[in-house]
Amino acid sequence: MKIVLLGPPGAGKGTLAKKLKEDLGVAHVSTGDILRDEISRETPYGHEAQQYIDKGFLVPDALISEIVEKKFCTDQHELSKGYILDGFPRTVPQAQEFEKILEKSQVGFDFALYMEVELPMIILRITGRRSCPHCGAVYHATRRPSKEEGICDVCGSHLFERNDDNEDTIRHRVNVFMESTLPIVDYYEKRNLLRRVNGNDDPEEIRDKLVNEDKR
Ligand code: AMP
Repeated sequence: MKIVLLGPPGAGKGTLAKKLKEDLGVAHVSTGDILRDEISRETPYGHEAQQYIDKGFLVPDALISEIVEKKFCTDQHELSKGYILDGFPRTVPQAQEFEKILEKSQVGFDFALYMEVELPMIILRITGRRSCPHCGAVYHATRRPSKEEGICDVCGSHLFERNDDNEDTIRHRVNVFMESTLPIVDYYEKRNLLRRVNGNDDPEEIRDKLVNEDKR
């Protein structure tokens, strides 16, 4: 399975990607995770990206495309076996750039999966989100709490709340999604490379459907 996940923040892209990774053994490439890692390592990419991320803006297309190109060309062998790309492309120029990256890396691509979800659900999901910096497990303060508050069930690390997970920034990120990312749903639909799922559904249900189809 070689897919791109599309959807507003809080659609469940990261949660679904982690489940598909476990089930199918495919790589999960999250551009948000890559950028947060660059920031924590204080790299030049991280310095440039942080100012945009903290305000809920998209980082420049050229910066993120360069990062994804590097990843696809370096990990070509692993990604050729399957990947879930989560968070890229997010604009039409990025989608065009992604075609070039695929041509260059010869990694292959099946389809884009659009997870549709409404604003109240997005706010509910994101405002309680807690993530593990070590293993990437994601919890929710009330809907899916860790067994011990603030501690990851899987690896025991301290959980953190993302700087950009507050209600104002979320509303802004949703607007950015509507303006910049929604046009690529159309871009993939016109190329017959789009599938839609209801992002309000349980991620397990969506995962089961996709995995069963993949095995057929
Ligand atoms: P995410 O974890 O996917 O919600 O990404 C967190 C933040 O990283 C976004 O709000 C953007 O500021 C930045 N980001 C991640 N992927 C991209 C991308 N493809 N294009 C531009 N900015 C991105």
